[in-house]
Amino acid sequence: MSLKIIWDRYILGKMIDFNKTGFDFDSAGEGMYHIISALYPICRSITGEGVRQTLNFIQQHLPLQQVEVPTGTPVLDWVVPKEWNIQDAYVKNHHGEKIIDFQQSNLHVLNYSIPVHKTLPLAELKPHLFSLPEYPNWIPYRTSYYQENWGFCLQHQRLESLEDCEYEVYIDASLTEGALTYGECVLPGATTDEVLFSCHCCHPSLCNDNLSGLALMTWLAKYLSASSRRYSYRFLFIPGTIGSITWLSRNEAQVPHIKHGLVVAGVGDSGPLTYKKSRQGEAEIDRVVSHVLHHSGVPYQLQGFSPYGYDERQYCSPGFNLPVGSLTRSPFGTYPEYHTSADNLDFVSPEALAESLEVYLAVVDVLEHNHTYLNTHPYGEPQLGKRGLYDRMGGKQTTPESRMALLWVLNLSDGTHSLLDIAERSHLPFGVIKQAAQALAQTDLLV
Ligand code: ZN
Repeated sequence: MSLKIIWDRYILGKMIDFNKTGFDFDSAGEGMYHIISALYPICRSITGEGVRQTLNFIQQHLPLQQVEVPTGTPVLDWVVPKEWNIQDAYVKNHHGEKIIDFQQSNLHVLNYSIPVHKTLPLAELKPHLFSLPEYPNWIPYRTSYYQENWGFCLQHQRLESLEDCEYEVYIDASLTEGALTYGECVLPGATTDEVLFSCHCCHPSLCNDNLSGLALMTWLAKYLSASSRRYSYRFLFIPGTIGSITWLSRNEAQVPHIKHGLVVAGVGDSGPLTYKKSRQGEAEIDRVVSHVLHHSGVPYQLQGFSPYGYDERQYCSPGFNLPVGSLTRSPFGTYPEYHTSADNLDFVSPEALAESLEVYLAVVDVLEHNHTYLNTHPYGEPQLGKRGLYDRMGGKQTTPESRMALLWVLNLSDGTHSLLDIAERSHLPFGVIKQAAQALAQTDLLV
């Protein structure tokens, strides 16, 4: 599904005039896919050089600030862990052949493994090996962040074929006093009220879970940096869980400015768009995303909040209770490729990325324009014909839909209904309501 097709279906020129922005939509999907391809080989974790290399790459596109928080720093109920870095890792059989090689896939190493170099029999090695019997050709992705351990992940069929002999295991990794690194990009708007976008940047070679979110957020920020903004926008590229906890811990004064937010992840696969509501459930962001998806013409699903998933768990913890939902495609953990080597460059597509970006842009457009107006002629219907609004609006022939939108906006603009309220009540797309409001404001029927 091309971006233009869905845009025409939902927006039909009703939402944003992209020609004015100079934003090259045709290349958006390819551009995001290019970012994913470039970042795919890097071995990331919740700390270490992989995160820095990733943020350095994003910095070529965005004015991103890299923040380093030292190991041992208390953050809410947690502590910033030691920094993990890895150079190499392998398992050799008694012939000296590498039967598991980190250089072939960084998923082969249990992420955050402690260093090890020893020879041991298969029976002692096996508790340190992880595989997926149900998908014998895939390598699982496993971590051990908060419990010191070492291990290797491998294809189940390779595990099954291991001879009963001695093996040399080697993990050239380090766990040292260092820092947790995250990236932050703030685009100031007309107000200090903020929209937060947050993605995790801590997974190694996994495309949909992790890299698709980084790529989409980069393009979203690029687009918004070239647009006029009512809201300020904050983009966080952070390691999962400990990253959002660290940011929240360091930015308590900033938190009340966050009026809307989305956790961006899993936006490149072919599954239906999925919106998981914020803990508040009926926050403006929840209503906006539901409205956009409802009118998008593409398959989608809505889910209530649950205290599991991505970093919405932290933003929606009861003390913060921020209006932050999560907009993904296939929900995390529901597809077999999730957290395996099959979440690769073939699992994501430029088309799906572009469609996801488009929905995010439509959400931003509703947030930016969801004003509440007052009808200046509330006694009887004002005469539209003498103001040039009956047959034509904004230089275009009116349609039954746009005429209804004029009447709805006039009727409900009593100072208590936002344009989103009116769109919901009238069952018309927000873009049509927005255009009607703009035409009425130009003729001073709305203030
Ligand atoms: Zn994940």
